[in-house]
Parts: sequence; C-alpha cells; structure tokens
Amino acid sequence: MTKLFLKKKIAARIANGHPWVFGNEVDKIDGPIEPAGTVDVHYADGKFAGRGYINPKSQILVRLLTRKPETIDAAFFHRRIAEAWAYRQKIGYTENCRLVFGEADQMPALIIDKFNDYFVLQTLSLGMDHWKPAIIEALNTIFSPKGIYERNDVPVRELEGLSQIKGFLSEPFDTNIIINENGLRFHVDIENGQKTGYFLDQQDNRKAIQHIVKGADVLGAFTYTGTFEIHAAHYGAKSVLGLDISENAVAQANKNAALNGLDDICKFEAMNAFDVLKQWGKDGRQYDVVMLDPPAFTKSRESIQKAITGYKEINLRGMKLIRNGGFLVTSSCTNLVQPELFLQTIEMAAKDARKKIRQVTFQAQASDHPIIWGMDNTNYLKFLIVEVTDK
Ligand code: SAH
Repeated sequence: MTKLFLKKKIAARIANGHPWVFGNEVDKIDGPIEPAGTVDVHYADGKFAGRGYINPKSQILVRLLTRKPETIDAAFFHRRIAEAWAYRQKIGYTENCRLVFGEADQMPALIIDKFNDYFVLQTLSLGMDHWKPAIIEALNTIFSPKGIYERNDVPVRELEGLSQIKGFLSEPFDTNIIINENGLRFHVDIENGQKTGYFLDQQDNRKAIQHIVKGADVLGAFTYTGTFEIHAAHYGAKSVLGLDISENAVAQANKNAALNGLDDICKFEAMNAFDVLKQWGKDGRQYDVVMLDPPAFTKSRESIQKAITGYKEINLRGMKLIRNGGFLVTSSCTNLVQPELFLQTIEMAAKDARKKIRQVTFQAQASDHPIIWGMDNTNYLKFLIVEVTDK
C-alpha cells in the first residue's frame, strides 16, 4: 500500500477527526499513485493517521475513509451504508431521509437521499465515484429499491476531473414520484428537480411554522416547489402567496397545492423576489408572516461579504412587509456564513428596517444531516423565526 507522510507542522484538523488531506500538507509519498486508489496516511513521526482514497488532480489529495487499518472493499461500503441506515432509524428518519451525508457518515463526498423506495445518489469525488458499483450493490441488498438514480450533474465534480452526468443506476423508472411529509404529499422530480430533487434538510423546519401561521396572510419567497407555503396553508393560514423566479418551480408548486387540496388558499407566481419585495415595501403591502429561503449566495470565502449584503438586503425587505407583531421565517444554506454571522446579519437588517425582533426559534437542518463538531461545512443550514414589531 502506498504511504503518504504528512509534514511536521500541519493543522490539528486531521488529528481532530477531519478527513481531508490537502496536497500541500504532504511531505513525501512512498509508492505509486493510482488515481482513486487506497492509500495510507501517516503523521511525520510515522504514526498511522488513517486510510483513504487519493486523487492527484484534486486540491484535496486524500479523503480518509477510516482511522483503522481495515480493508477498503465492497464489504466496507456495505457496512458503512448499513450503519448510516441504522442511525437514521434510531433517530426516527425512515420514510424519506438523507441516508448518507458525506463526511458526517464517514463516507466523504457521498450523498444518498432516500425518497420512500427510491434513492438518489451523488458521488462528488473521483475516489467515491470509483466505488459507485459497490454502493449500488449495497443499496440493492439492504433496501431492494424500486429505483436508483444518479444526480451527478454538479460542477464540483469537475474539480476532481469528473464529468457531469445524470441517469439511472437501476432499471429505468418513472422519475416523477410522490413523497409524504408531515401529513402532506409532494411531487418530487428526481430527474430534473434541483439538487437531488427535493430539500429534505428543511423537513423539520417546515413543521416549526405550525402555530405562527394560523389565520395569517403569508408571503413566501424562494418557494421552489412550495413546500413551506403548502405547510402554512395546511396549518391554517388564511392566504398564502409563494414566489419563485423559476417558472418550472411555480408549476410544481401549483401541482403540489392541488395534490393536497390547498390550491384555493395557496397561490404561486414566477417573480424575482429581490425586485418584488422592494416594490411591495414601497407600495405598503403587509403580511402577517414572511418566509424566505434563498439559494446559497456564495461558495467562496472571497465573496462572503457580498453574501452577507444579500442576506441583509432580502431580510430587511422582508421585515418591512410584516405587520406589527408578525413573524419572519428566514433561512440560509450558505455554509460559509456560520450561524453566529447569520444572526448578526439579521440583527443589522432589523436595525435598518427600524424593527424590534424577538427570537422564537433558531434551528439547523434536520438531524438526518448530522452535524460534526469541527467540520463547519456539516453545520450549514440556519433556520430562524423571529417576531417582528415596530420600534
Ligand atoms: N424553500 C424551498 C427551497 C428553496 S431553494 C424548499 O424548502 O423546498 C431556492 C429557490 O430560490 C429556488 O427554487 C430558486 O429558483 C429560487 N430563486 C433564486 N433566485 C431567486 C430570485 N431572485 N427570486 C425568486 N426566487 C429565486
């Protein structure tokens, strides 16, 4: 087995459990490098650090799969996926769940979403892509799925020298499926929906709006397929308007409202939320609850400030539309904007909007996307509800 020796002075990250080894942290390599092959990583003093897969094309040279000298083979992946499933069952996520959340399940760069009997998979690194047949075999053995689909149409694969692809990893099936969530039903378009087709990470947060929307006029922006809005109608909102820039998302949202018999309360329109919220603020429109769930504003450290400005702006505009004593429901999935910074941004927005806010709840993603302390990118979703009153 090829051995890599780390430099003497490396960040404590690896010793503390983080699985990434960057190329510039490696002092010497003993043996041939086979892209996607298994290698051993040792500290400078020769002590074993872990075993993982290597990609000389990637800045992340090695991603560790284990801290033990165990064999990496199909049985290893079967075991790891079975463990991930046992954990989801233990914490109560069974019908739909993120079955594998990459690093948080010790399977770096692997994402698997389970939508009842269907599975959507992403292998986002060369090393993990190499093990795709073993992963499929494990899913087939553990679940006997009705279908498996790969949504590897993501740009980050190109950093690994991989192409963007999507398609069936099982016999072809109808990729428009229906899932149940919190007593409601939603269409999921596995083939053409965003990311893996559906945002499972907000499933518990959607429940969190239950009490504040009763009898309310609700405005939702960045609705995608209308999940938060349909929850609001289900929980007793008087009227609900959802906005998304994508015509396709709006069509799906309308279909979802009809599927739940809530299309008389829930309306959706294709609009640019940034423009519309600003205009409606000037027009003096008012809502009891405003819900915001924009897409990630940045993936690079260089543009964090721009992302913060974006969050401040959209939340300020949202707050201005809220009746005295109403509620703002706001999310951020930009992992570089850590929770503390997000809260500070909302505070700045409130100040500028001349509003007083009171925190109702502050949550992260659903627990089937585990947070690992020390791996900041696993703590990515911020979900906040505040009461908003005039100053
Ligand atoms: N709340 C949704 C997920 C939202 S994803 C859920 O829980 O399922 C973010 C959405 O914002 C995407 O659907 C995208 O089309 C939309 N979007 C991006 N820019 C926008 C803009 N300027 N105005 C309105 N919607 C926008």
